[in-house]
Amino acid sequence: MAILTVENLHKHYGPIQALKDVSFSVPSGSVFGILGPNGSGKTTLLGIILDVLKASSGSYKLFDEAPSHLHRQQIGTLLETPNFYHYLNAVQNLRIAAAIKQRGKSDINKVLELVNLEQRKFSKFSTYSLGMKQRLAIASSLLGDPEVLVFDEPTNGLDPVGIAETRELIKKLNKAGKTIIMASHLLDEVEKVCSHVAILQKGTLLTHGHVDEILVTEDIVEAGAADLPKLHSLLQGYAGAKKVQRSEQHVELSFTQGTATLEALNQYCFNNGITLNHLRLRKKSLESKFIELTQKLN
Ligand code: ATP
Repeated sequence: MAILTVENLHKHYGPIQALKDVSFSVPSGSVFGILGPNGSGKTTLLGIILDVLKASSGSYKLFDEAPSHLHRQQIGTLLETPNFYHYLNAVQNLRIAAAIKQRGKSDINKVLELVNLEQRKFSKFSTYSLGMKQRLAIASSLLGDPEVLVFDEPTNGLDPVGIAETRELIKKLNKAGKTIIMASHLLDEVEKVCSHVAILQKGTLLTHGHVDEILVTEDIVEAGAADLPKLHSLLQGYAGAKKVQRSEQHVELSFTQGTATLEALNQYCFNNGITLNHLRLRKKSLESKFIELTQKLN
């Protein structure tokens, strides 16, 4: 079942086109990252699916059906830094949140336990660290036990400890069965936390799918020999290499990260009558992969 299916969504604010023909779907049980730089349309997209904004054209479905109030009851949200009362404690703040949402009044202890605030639930909000404040906001999104959680930039503004805590919590909630849709401008965050990704740039969807397939990092092996054309033809189809190409001075082989073995390659060339005069392993960073991806698809 798809939790969310977006079909040909367009949104413009006057002359500004914030979303251009965006289509993708979010599988049940995924942590789905919407990745893009500032201004790429992430918040606009979340706003539309949460019915805060109207699309200019296109449509979307929730739980494979036309969206309704009942479907939205199954979605917990964390859209911006929430306004909790500084002089009230976590339990009091969540009682207010539950009353506003009209759900989850009996869940307060459970959600505080889930986000690891049990010990501090009677401390005033003003005494919390930023990470704890964010965990309380996530606790609030969990009231009523929704199946789906939508988080806009959940680690924005947090210190490294707060970031790590929040990411761990997202993974834990996913393991407990929640589908999570989260916007992020951080490539490494999406890589660490998400199972799926949709990449937006200036309102256009560049690509979407499994993180493992889209954000793969590669090992590049450079090999050199006196007779480069001969080396190139020998290495064509070398086992495990995804791509073999000639640069000016070397033959370059791409491998899935962690699968390149220099010894084996060296031995193979030697056994086939070629002595290498250069052999080097180069890691291709995720950032360079991302740049390549966005340039290729632009
Ligand atoms: P950020 O991470 O900075 O919030 P984003 O990826 O969430 O960025 P959006 O906030 O959806 O992007 O903005 C997409 C585009 O639409 C931007 O060019 C933005 O300036 C514009 N935009 C957003 N809201 C409005 C609005 N209410 N009126 C006019 N333009 C808007």
